[in-house]
Amino acid sequence: MLTVKAFTFNPVEENTYILYNEHKQCCIIDPGCYFPEERDGLKTFVEKTGLSPVLLLNTHCHLDHIFGNKFVRDTWGLPLHLHEKEKPVLDFVPTSGQLYQLPFDNYNGPLVYLKEGEIIKINDDELEVRFVPGHSPGHVCFYNGPGGFVISGDVLFNRSIGRTDLPGGDYAALINSIQTQLFTLPDETNVYSGHGPVTTIGFEKMNNPFVKLY
Ligand SMILES: [Zn+2]
Ligand SMILES: [Zn+2]
Repeated sequence: MLTVKAFTFNPVEENTYILYNEHKQCCIIDPGCYFPEERDGLKTFVEKTGLSPVLLLNTHCHLDHIFGNKFVRDTWGLPLHLHEKEKPVLDFVPTSGQLYQLPFDNYNGPLVYLKEGEIIKINDDELEVRFVPGHSPGHVCFYNGPGGFVISGDVLFNRSIGRTDLPGGDYAALINSIQTQLFTLPDETNVYSGHGPVTTIGFEKMNNPFVKLY
C-alpha cells in the first residue's frame, strides 16, 4: 500500500507529493521546492523516513511544479517522467521563471515519456497514468485504485478547476478530461491536488461549481 505525504512549497503554494510503501521505496511527484530550506525539508523527510526514491514524476510542467526537478535529479540520480506533450511546456519554464521573477536552474537530464493508460510500478504498487489535457497539453493524473486516491495536479481542485488561459490551455478539453477520466472513478477516491486541500470525487461531483456531472 502507498502512503501519501504532502508538502506545500514555493510562493505559488504548490503541493508536492511523496508516495511510499512498506518496502521504503518512494516516488516524488511535482517537486516544487524552490528555496534551500524547502529542498532541505524534502531531503530530510526522505532520509529520516529511510526512503529510497525510485521515480520522479511530473503531472505537468508549469513552473510551480518543476522547481525541484533538478534538485531531485542531482540528489538521487532519477530521470524525469512526463508526457511527451509537456516537453514544450518544460522548455518554456526558464522564460516564465524570468517573467514571474522566480529564476531557477531547469532540469536538463534524460526524459522518459509516459503513455496514456500506462501502469507505473513501485514494487507491487501501481499507478495508472490518466491523460487529462486542458490545463496544459500533456497533463496526466496518477491513479492508485487499492489506495483509493488520485494525484490530480492542476486539473481538479477542492471546489475548483485548473485555469485554461495559459499557453496550450483548452477549457472544453479540461471539462471533458474531468468528466471522462476523474468523475468515472469511485466516489470515495481521495483527490490530492496541485494546490489546496484534499477532496474526493464524490464531493466534487456534488459541489464543484465548474463541472456538471454529465
Ligand atoms: Zn499548472
Ligand atoms: Zn500549479
